[in-house]
Amino acid sequence: MQVTFFSTKSYDERYFLEECGEDMHTLIFHEFRLNPDSAKLAAGSDAVCAFVNDQLDRATIQVLSEVGIRVIAMRCAGFNNVDLEAAEAFGLKVVRVPAYSPHAVAEHTLGLLLALNRRLYRSYNRVREGNFSLQGLVGFDIHGLTVGIIGTGTIGVEVVRLFNGFGCKVLCYDVQQNPRAVELGAQYVTLEALLSQADIVSLHCPLFQSTYHMIDAAAIEQMKHGVTLLNTSRGALIDTSAVIEGLKSGKIGNLGIDVYEEEDNLFFEDQSGDVMQDDVFARLLTFPNVMITGHQAFFTSNALIQIARTTLQNLTDVEQDGCCVNEVKVPQ
Ligand code: NAD
Repeated sequence: MQVTFFSTKSYDERYFLEECGEDMHTLIFHEFRLNPDSAKLAAGSDAVCAFVNDQLDRATIQVLSEVGIRVIAMRCAGFNNVDLEAAEAFGLKVVRVPAYSPHAVAEHTLGLLLALNRRLYRSYNRVREGNFSLQGLVGFDIHGLTVGIIGTGTIGVEVVRLFNGFGCKVLCYDVQQNPRAVELGAQYVTLEALLSQADIVSLHCPLFQSTYHMIDAAAIEQMKHGVTLLNTSRGALIDTSAVIEGLKSGKIGNLGIDVYEEEDNLFFEDQSGDVMQDDVFARLLTFPNVMITGHQAFFTSNALIQIARTTLQNLTDVEQDGCCVNEVKVPQ
């Protein structure tokens, strides 16, 4: 197949070219994003390969269909930016990489927690300036705390396993129980019980209409005072304005996020020379107890290799068999 890539960075090109056999597929890389205007540049290809912030709405999908695209290959797990109904209507298959390295995302979640709890970002900067004061660096033991995991799929269950290692009590909430989490000793409870009992709440469910802003003012109200909130899943699971109010009141003691609801205007680009236009994000940056990373939880060499391999195999499966185990369809 000929595949046109959008939102490509040098690392995507490197890992895909390394994994792509010479007679496997022809890969064309574009750095710009996929949207209704750029979609026509996929003409001549059979498939497009897109990432988390590409715009795969009805307008884009219509253009893709008009220029002969048959497959949308997402090189990520999430597919909330794809209009699945439009893809079905225009006869395009959508495939994704459901699991590439759950360890990468789970470990980054713990990384955010450890950095936040012990204020490692502050001490790193202080020590470099010869300031060895411990003022403002007091943390807490993670051992013995109650952790609430929302979403216990591939990544969530790995987070359960890591928190077990810390000696935490783990509570879970999911619309579907995962026997692996129960085997690990976690206990499924209602969302209300999880929010009211957890010292640390970590989000690992996908972004759907039903999960949009699931952490809003009402949910925050139910949480323990001083709760630590972690989100390495999708930004819009959290109502950022409500979280800012929670941080101002002290209800939220720490916030660690790798994703942000308006991240498509910010992340993956060097904007260090520009004036920040997003006032909500700018406000988040002012808190000493907020740690933000720019959607890098997936970003390990192991994950990049697996993403490239699975994406290429998905394309081969569709080409040879007309179907693929990693196809995403409109929920029935
Ligand atoms: P998964 O599909 O294996 O698991 C998702 C779990 O969420 C499932 O168990 C599902 O039943 C549950 N769920 C669905 N609706 C729910 C609801 N309303 N309330 C509670 N739980 C619900 O997905 P995964 O591989 O574990 O990934 C989880 C999410 O992590 C992805 O959807 C993606 O958005 C995000 N992600 C982020 C990064 C990153 O770099 N930050 C990388 C990969 C994935």
